[in-house]
Amino acid sequence: SVIETGELQVILEDIADRVAGMSERGKVAQYIPELASVDLNQFGIAVAPIDGAPVSAGNADTLFSIQSISKVFSLTEALQHVGATLWQRVGREPSGDPFNSIVQLEHERGIPRNPFINPGAIVVADVLLEDRSSDEAVNDVLNLCRTLAEDASIQVDKAVADSEMRTGSRNRALAHFMKAEGNLKAPVEDVLSLYFRQCSIAMSCRQLAVAGRYLAAAGQNPADGSTVLSAQRARRVTALMMMCGSYDASGEFAFRVGLPAKSGVGGGILCIVPGIASVTAWSPGLDAKGNSHLASIAFQELVRATGWSVFGPS
Ligand code: GLN
Repeated sequence: SVIETGELQVILEDIADRVAGMSERGKVAQYIPELASVDLNQFGIAVAPIDGAPVSAGNADTLFSIQSISKVFSLTEALQHVGATLWQRVGREPSGDPFNSIVQLEHERGIPRNPFINPGAIVVADVLLEDRSSDEAVNDVLNLCRTLAEDASIQVDKAVADSEMRTGSRNRALAHFMKAEGNLKAPVEDVLSLYFRQCSIAMSCRQLAVAGRYLAAAGQNPADGSTVLSAQRARRVTALMMMCGSYDASGEFAFRVGLPAKSGVGGGILCIVPGIASVTAWSPGLDAKGNSHLASIAFQELVRATGWSVFGPS
């Protein structure tokens, strides 16, 4: 249902007030040194309706590391470039394992279960390098984010990218394993250079919410009516978000919230309300599965207040 702006503002302020008072906030990601120093006491939320101005509360204009949320934009680019042939190299099933797990790759000959776990996104990055250098591909992902968010100021946070490049042994292992199985074409370091930099793009809740609107609008960018993805592909990306967007907590998120979502270890969660809006909540503290603790709670409350779950109101 469409909710009037003033009413939505009250709902968001109320959610921000409530989560600000919660003492359990989760833990910031420790394995990326640059993210380990982010202040836990921040929370923001922004709703970008497909046919109106964004509404927000809390620290909705603070930049944070979008991390795995970038996998939505890189997947979008890869589908634009190679279309359905992408699915020869990456699957469409939830993994049930952590986002950086290697175990399935051995059983499934280097084909990752889906594009939203790390090995899947690393394959997607490799697809983007088929006819371009890492620098060019980073610029393409960045420019897609800038266009969709209608904000040319969006940048890669170099300190975060360097931090991941230095400490990313686990992602390196995933990439080398897939290389050995013949599922990476470009040199591993080129692929990782793109992957780490796309993860290090810094955006705010408001920018991300605006950027996600095409997925709520059947693949069309509401800003200018241009087609980002066909309606079928946009629907497929949101299906993947629902099934795989929160890693091995995707079932739990669907159970509690019931919206297609993509989370990142920077503490952001992008949710799509099909036909209505794109929403981002952010708070840096993560739960044990790597999803933002307070942003997850915020989405539960938002869905309760708006009835926006795709499975019906509660
Ligand atoms: N850059 C992070 C990594 O590769 C992304 C993980 C995430 O956000 N879940 O580990």
